[in-house]
Amino acid sequence: MSFGIDDLPVRDELRGKSPYGAPQLDVPVRLNTNENPYPLPEPLVERITERVREAARHLNRYPDRDAVELRTRLAAYLTKTAGHPVATENVWAANGSNEVIQQLLQTFGGPGRTAIGFEPSYSMHGLIARGTGTGWISGPRHEDFTVDLAAAEKAIAVHRPDVVFVTTPNNPTGNAVPPETVLALYEAAQKARPSMVVVDEAYVEFSHGDSLLPLLDGRPNLVVSRTMSKAFGAAGLRLGYLAAHPAVVDAVQLVRLPYHLSAITQATALAALEHTDTLLGYVEQLKAERDRLVAELRALGYEVTESDANFVQFGRFEDSHATWRKILDRGVLVRDNGVPGWLRVTAGAPEENDAFLDAVREIEKEQS
Ligand code: PMP
Repeated sequence: MSFGIDDLPVRDELRGKSPYGAPQLDVPVRLNTNENPYPLPEPLVERITERVREAARHLNRYPDRDAVELRTRLAAYLTKTAGHPVATENVWAANGSNEVIQQLLQTFGGPGRTAIGFEPSYSMHGLIARGTGTGWISGPRHEDFTVDLAAAEKAIAVHRPDVVFVTTPNNPTGNAVPPETVLALYEAAQKARPSMVVVDEAYVEFSHGDSLLPLLDGRPNLVVSRTMSKAFGAAGLRLGYLAAHPAVVDAVQLVRLPYHLSAITQATALAALEHTDTLLGYVEQLKAERDRLVAELRALGYEVTESDANFVQFGRFEDSHATWRKILDRGVLVRDNGVPGWLRVTAGAPEENDAFLDAVREIEKEQS
């Protein structure tokens, strides 16, 4: 028997657990991790090169610890797109929104504290909770994957969590949470403890509806987290950010590692923000492709969850993993998130979506 993790003196709560592990398989069509299929446009690649070259000249020095220029540009982006004024002191940035979430849990969760999410939802909320020693509570959803508000309010009242996660649009189901529901959850959370409510808007640029940023007004315990991994087509960059009351931004600085955002990351993100309009143009194309996937899957007789994201949850399958495998055998990688009966496909470029739909049609034909 080989020496393994469990032979090491690892923390009890990590024993027997698996790491986050979306398969990174080398297949022709990869529609499994909600990436943007479009490579960055060449003029942006040029601009990144220029900005990084300039940053390279100063790599003997630590980067701007507070990433002020980047936070200012992110605030301007939010102000412009959400129609709600956001200032530099409202914004914090880190290496992907996963790190933003980790910093939030290090600040507001931790040993002896708990966080709740309404599942199925983004599995990393629970995994990062565990990694920060925060107890995890799995809150309820209805059969149709909408948040069961009455049950959620009850769970908040009973467990009195320190952190409440609301993912909208939700991953892996794709549906958005209505603003009234988020407000009701915020009220319930304040009554119970009060606690922090983190609205994870990783996919909001793909939504039919609006960002919940305006709700930040007068709600200092509300946080909206965002990412450049999806709409900006920059998953490889690792840049996530949050908007909140300036006190929240001050608080997360108690746990961030000094100089956590490299000068290269800051330079690259700043270059991408100069090309926002072009990148948001791709978002419009992806929204149209997402809507096409919904329509075509429904026409094929599948159940499809309403999607406000760049992916679509479809079912139902008696054995979703077997169907996942059959789609993979046809060169298309989708995601089995472990939601029984359902699979998730990311909206890719038109030809990738065609390949996916062809694979599904072929499987259908085989079965009939
Ligand atoms: N939140 C949600 C809901 C996500 O689906 C993801 C990525 N799949 C993230 C956050 C993390 O994204 P990143 O760390 O790349 O910003």
